[in-house]
Amino acid sequence: AHLDRTAAVDDAVHAYLHVDADGAIAAARAVDARRAAREPLHPLAGVPVAVKDVMATKGLPTTCGSRILEGWVPPYDATLVTRLREAGMPILGKTNMDEFAMGSSTEHSAYGPTHNPWDLDRIPGGSGGGSSSVVASYQAPLAIGTDTGGSIRQPAAVTGTVGVKPTYGGVSRYGLVALASSLDQAGPCTRTVLDAALLHDVIGGHDPMDSTSIDAPVPPVVEAARRADVSGLRIGIVRELTGEGFQPGVQQRFDEAVALLVERGARVVEVSCPSFAYALAAYYLILPSEASSNLAKFDAMRYGLRVGPPEVAHPSAEQVMAATRDAGFGPEVKRRIILGTYALSSGYYDAYYGTAQKVRRLIADDFARAFETADVLASPTAPTTAFRLGDKLDDPMAMYLNDIATIPANLAGVPGISVPSGLAPEDGLPTGIQFLAPATEDERLYAAGAALE
Ligand code: GLN
Repeated sequence: AHLDRTAAVDDAVHAYLHVDADGAIAAARAVDARRAAREPLHPLAGVPVAVKDVMATKGLPTTCGSRILEGWVPPYDATLVTRLREAGMPILGKTNMDEFAMGSSTEHSAYGPTHNPWDLDRIPGGSGGGSSSVVASYQAPLAIGTDTGGSIRQPAAVTGTVGVKPTYGGVSRYGLVALASSLDQAGPCTRTVLDAALLHDVIGGHDPMDSTSIDAPVPPVVEAARRADVSGLRIGIVRELTGEGFQPGVQQRFDEAVALLVERGARVVEVSCPSFAYALAAYYLILPSEASSNLAKFDAMRYGLRVGPPEVAHPSAEQVMAATRDAGFGPEVKRRIILGTYALSSGYYDAYYGTAQKVRRLIADDFARAFETADVLASPTAPTTAFRLGDKLDDPMAMYLNDIATIPANLAGVPGISVPSGLAPEDGLPTGIQFLAPATEDERLYAAGAALE
């Protein structure tokens, strides 16, 4: 049914970069056979899932939305992909994304943008606009995204879906093509909070292949989502992430969602996180610095594309690397590599990267203080509803500002969820409310989110 739906709608939505109909059907048949043989099955066995094209999938192309990885087929599965397969979940295909997960609109994909299923002239969020859109357009019940600065939560908000960024280290990064290793975290994109919890439970947990993986069981997210209990829960409204700068309808739906939680037994406290004012600036130094280092491996020798400068008959290895990176990377990736190498260069390292790391510590301190009086923090997920395709493409600062509410969580490593909060009255488009919890307390997000459904 999902493959039929894709055949019907994905020419218009363009959420998939690659559909693996044969593989998905074979995996579904294998589950049927095990069921017929009365073998024990995982509760999600047979439930299909779509995977963002930044996760390595054995035998399936993995491009990260980039020309430089065109044609690359990984020889191994990411750990979370192994866990999906072991649970008997057929993988429908790989979803579109901004190139190397840099962006907030999926317009930086080298393979063309994804369109928001609510209005095809609008962006589906980014970088994981493919994963949010396959779920929103009923092409998949579940999808995997990655969130380095909001790429699961913001696409969820603008497509009326649920997105979770688990605690840093809660889901293995082994086989996730790194953007910024200290910020990246994979997580669920779904239509309900309980679905997200069930998927989180499959992909989460310790992995010896990832040295930053937390050595502890998955938090009790499924139980929390089922109970949806917010009685006595203290919800901290972050003063710096409400009001000015947020679209009135987004703010209104946020206020209504909070009021509903109060009706269900939660309490509201106001918290202040003054260092959040510097989060965007710090993030856009730390991310390009780590990305410029991580992307050095795309050297035309090891993976994907290799082109020589056409005017040179016998190019040197260095000339091939330069020509390949010139042809293979898009403008946003080049911008960030230049920014990152600059920020890391000798003489500037302390002033830029070092200062940004200090800001990162202050942001973590703000969170720690806020969590003394609040169990979860809340804000609108994104400042506006989905903007029009093309609107911010030529203005990187405007694009970056979209991440204002989502970035602090990545800098501090704390978990976050975005849950639909209704349609904005002025444009009829989806809005999202975000909850943040202390590290490893992911179940609080599911309790708060499920109480709104
Ligand atoms: N929009 C952010 C960026 O461009 C977030 C990216 C992400 O989470 N992968 O960096």
